Amino acid sequence: MPKLPDGSEKGLRGHAEERGVRARIGMAPRAGHIDRDAAYKRIATEEAWTFPDLVKAQLAYLDSGEAHDDSLRMAGMFASMPRLQDMLQDLGELRLAHMDEYGIDRQLLLLTSPGVQVVRPGEGTALARQANDIAADACARHPDRFSALAAFDPRDVPGSVTEIERAMATLGLNGAVLNSHFQGHYLDEAAYWPILEALEAHDAALYIHPTAPFNAPHYKDRGFFGALGGFPHDVWLHTMGLIFSGAFDRFPRLRLVIGHLGECLPLHLYRFDWMQDNADGVPGLRGGQPAVKLKHPVSHYFHHNIWITTSGVGWEPAIKFCMEVMGPERVLYAMDYPYQQSSDEVAAYDRLSISAEHKKMLMEGNARRVFNLPA
Ligand code: MN
Repeated sequence: MPKLPDGSEKGLRGHAEERGVRARIGMAPRAGHIDRDAAYKRIATEEAWTFPDLVKAQLAYLDSGEAHDDSLRMAGMFASMPRLQDMLQDLGELRLAHMDEYGIDRQLLLLTSPGVQVVRPGEGTALARQANDIAADACARHPDRFSALAAFDPRDVPGSVTEIERAMATLGLNGAVLNSHFQGHYLDEAAYWPILEALEAHDAALYIHPTAPFNAPHYKDRGFFGALGGFPHDVWLHTMGLIFSGAFDRFPRLRLVIGHLGECLPLHLYRFDWMQDNADGVPGLRGGQPAVKLKHPVSHYFHHNIWITTSGVGWEPAIKFCMEVMGPERVLYAMDYPYQQSSDEVAAYDRLSISAEHKKMLMEGNARRVFNLPA
């Protein structure tokens, strides 16, 4: 059993009282057995990695004091965890051993947060190229086990367009990943739309992965800049910003993937449509913004342009709800290795009470289609 960064083995912990609480709210018990003869492959679609030159560049930027960005402070925190770094930086034996232990057939590799977008300006695109070369090499060495998304630094728009094209056309990567805001900026700003155009042109799905919110003492001071608040909120903002900017009307074949069960967004589709209807075409109703008139209700974009993954949320009632409101073809399995890893969570997917057809879509088929993975 691999240990977590703090040396504990959280996946094995479980007091009787805790198990009782978990059972009451419909969570799977921790103790579980992975089906080694499952009728589906397990493709995990939000699996993190990094490499030494990137960590070095992030730490140099942090030490320079030039940037005030909590996502950079988060990079510093992760860099100080040697056991975590061992797992993040390994694209061979250690990672494959953990995949075998958990029954994961294929990992989709995403350059971990905050990625190349939080290094000194001017260094990001070269680091993206290096990242994509390393990832492509790992995929070539283990074609049956690894696929990867392309990194890019959106602060360099022409460089991003060129790198997305190279990663898709030359390296054969399977889409692109952005770790949400880039020092307080988002892709809904018109300056970055050539990147959206390139993603659409190359049929590259864009995975927007969380990072810590920019300069957010109100999160940090309460200990919420990570998965308990800042992460989902920042991707929430990025996704809703893209929708309300009209990006999907302008680029209707643009495909967006967000993790952690859609960062809670699917739960609110009803209210989004209601509020949009209320404010449609009315200037100022959303707080002084110009009037917005989208071609479709907000929920339309969740049914045509957006896919979600289950990273870190192996919880049956929530997964079933998302499959019901998004459609079973729009929900993909992810583990979130190495930040979350648990055989019990994998076993919970094996036990999900959904049809065999939907199970195979969740664990395997949807990922193949969204990321154009080999059969
Ligand atoms: Mn993740």
